[in-house]
Amino acid sequence: MNDVLPDEAELWEHFEETVRAWLDAYGYRNVRTPLLEHTTLFRRAIGEATDIVEKEMYSFVDELNGEHLTLRPEATASVVRAAVEHSLLHAGPQRLWYMGPMYRHERPQKGRYRQFHQVGAEALGYAGPDVDAELLLMCARLWDDLGLAGIRLHLNSLGGPAERLAHREALVAYLRRHEGDLDEDSGRRLHTNPLRVLDSKNPAMQQLVAGAPRLLDYLGDASLAHFEGVQAVLKDAGLPYTIDPRLVRGLDYYNLTVFEWVTDRLGAQGTVCGGGRYDGLIEQIGGKPAPAAGFALGVERLIALMREGDERLGSTVDVYVVNQGEGAARLAFRAAERLRDRGLSVIQHCGGGSFKSQMKRADASGAAIAVIIGEDEAAAGEVTLKPLREDRGQSRVTLDRLADAVSDLMYGEGPE
Ligand code: ATP
Ligand code: MG
Repeated sequence: MNDVLPDEAELWEHFEETVRAWLDAYGYRNVRTPLLEHTTLFRRAIGEATDIVEKEMYSFVDELNGEHLTLRPEATASVVRAAVEHSLLHAGPQRLWYMGPMYRHERPQKGRYRQFHQVGAEALGYAGPDVDAELLLMCARLWDDLGLAGIRLHLNSLGGPAERLAHREALVAYLRRHEGDLDEDSGRRLHTNPLRVLDSKNPAMQQLVAGAPRLLDYLGDASLAHFEGVQAVLKDAGLPYTIDPRLVRGLDYYNLTVFEWVTDRLGAQGTVCGGGRYDGLIEQIGGKPAPAAGFALGVERLIALMREGDERLGSTVDVYVVNQGEGAARLAFRAAERLRDRGLSVIQHCGGGSFKSQMKRADASGAAIAVIIGEDEAAAGEVTLKPLREDRGQSRVTLDRLADAVSDLMYGEGPE
């Protein structure tokens, strides 16, 4: 679980602002759900024989009332629970988004943390491939907005329950023939949830899985039409993708379209976003049956890509107010507030010290201009302005002229 310190937090804030504007552009509306849910919610939604439920959840018993609770490992289940509990779908389909921390007890490594953050979009009540395609176009636009290149789309279809069942029989038969080669997890899953074997991270398993029956070959006409509908929009939009028949995702609730966005630039943890359709989940959580699709993206991994891009965000401080003496300090407060009235970002020096040391702080703050107030200025009700980033002389103005003079210095009216 990471602390995010101010230098890094600047990237986070830039990321969050970009994400809000982006979600707004697609008409998604924010939902905020608790970090804790009843454990049964995740067990049912995500599935018993999944990595998350088997070994990654922070679950505990509330000593005060014996309730079994879990820190959310993902938020789709929570959003669907909230939508069902508050009958949101009665008003029609909903495009919803969330952002926040998730918790999984994983082995920590680069790009894999026990508290990490996701931004997710959930389109509830939409059945068609159009919304799946829109979700994918959305992602592509976000990579652009963030200035990130080289994030590639992997796509697959998991079909419907009947198709999965037919495929499952063939898959189990195949895995049985290779039972001796299965690792411990896969051996267990052969009996509990064979599709999950396809999702194994073990290279030896991946090799074995390469020869297994492909779900795509078991899809009926309706599922194929849905899959082709998604691809038609992607082709129209010129969005490249790769069909990956082994892509099954780590959660049980998916059907039809599933996808991941992957980069080579993050080593082993290269998936920055995953999602798909989950038409059965709303009903499973107790709502009236309704289709849905969505995705979650990994904020830490995207921030790592942004950091790598060496995008300098620069300081956002406009003015640093240097002041010495009691009268000067009082004038400094008034000067700083006047500038903030104009929408400027102002750091007022607090804690005293020599002019020299204060000017050093002013310089280090990244501010464009220093406002300097000594006894002299205080007596005259004036302040001295000193541009810090360019070679221009200082000037002295009254408090009433201050905001205009600073604006002139910052946004034009250069020296004659
Ligand atoms: P992985 O295969 O990497 O374990 P997952 O399938 O468990 O991923 P999802 O549940 O689909 O991941 O979560 C969506 C995204 O959230 C991932 O693509 C990834 O970017 C991010 N993510 C998942 N788990 C972690 C983690 N422990 N630390 C950081 N980011 C994570
Ligand atoms: Mg995982």
